[in-house]
Amino acid sequence: IEKILHVDYEILTFLSYNLILWGFVVLIVLQLTSAPYGRYSRDGWGTKIEPRLAWFIQEIPAFLVPLLLLVTTKAPMIKYLPNKILLACFLIHYFQRSFIFPYLMKSGRPTPLIPFLLAFVFCLCNGYLQAGYIITYADFGAGLTSNVSYYLGIILFFVGMAINIHADHVLRNLRKPGEKGYKIPHGGMYNFISCPNFFGEILEWSGFAIANGTVAAISFAIFTACNIGPRACQHHKWYQQKFEDYPKKRKALIPFVL
Ligand code: NDP
Repeated sequence: IEKILHVDYEILTFLSYNLILWGFVVLIVLQLTSAPYGRYSRDGWGTKIEPRLAWFIQEIPAFLVPLLLLVTTKAPMIKYLPNKILLACFLIHYFQRSFIFPYLMKSGRPTPLIPFLLAFVFCLCNGYLQAGYIITYADFGAGLTSNVSYYLGIILFFVGMAINIHADHVLRNLRKPGEKGYKIPHGGMYNFISCPNFFGEILEWSGFAIANGTVAAISFAIFTACNIGPRACQHHKWYQQKFEDYPKKRKALIPFVL
């Protein structure tokens, strides 16, 4: 078992540093082009998949892999409450994202095969990385941890999740049945920024990283910011070009700042 755990640790470390590296690659690439799904969906990126099906299949590995690790593991850390709570946070997020989000989706552009496959592989590796680390290595000790940043991180995670879910709810209700066009979203965090769904998502994984304090969770937070931060800026520019009456004071991603 010790040998397997050792190999496991090397894979987790390898994945963590790769995720950081990929985050910076994605950040650079997204300065030159947009991720080809949603409003930027275009030809040349493979056959198109119905969006609800695409979201369900691409996100589900991040829910199933942790569950699989959970039921098969004999690793000691998962007996401890702080580890259980962190794993529950991850599972709640990906239950929402792979079951509820596609189920509630009313419309959306089809997803091309290549971004779909990239998202699928990402969710597979990241599900293994985050759950593997929490179950096997993140050490908060038995009982409740006295680490304040753990609790602050958990609060930030749920605040981010609430902002993300509310923002996606607003977008979903902009279109009447059969409509495919875009409208200006209003209300909640939309009064301050163009993309509170991405802002909420970044807060979520930053909180998760603060609570975890592990290289695995920090690498995920960095990757998320590098991936959807530029998308928020692209959406913001796109809105400003499309709508003359787009609110002038609204920022892209961070209220009053960016
Ligand atoms: P978008 O904001 O681009 O689109 C979300 C949905 O709302 C789509 O169905 C879109 O339709 C629709 N929509 C968006 N803007 C408008 C508008 N102005 N008027 C009418 N409908 C609109 O988000 P993403 O699809 O990129 O992301 C969806 C969720 O997944 C978010 O919560 C995001 O945080 C999360 N995500 C997380 C990532 C991570 O790295 N952790 C990576 C990517 C996404 P259409 O398809 O027609 O554009």
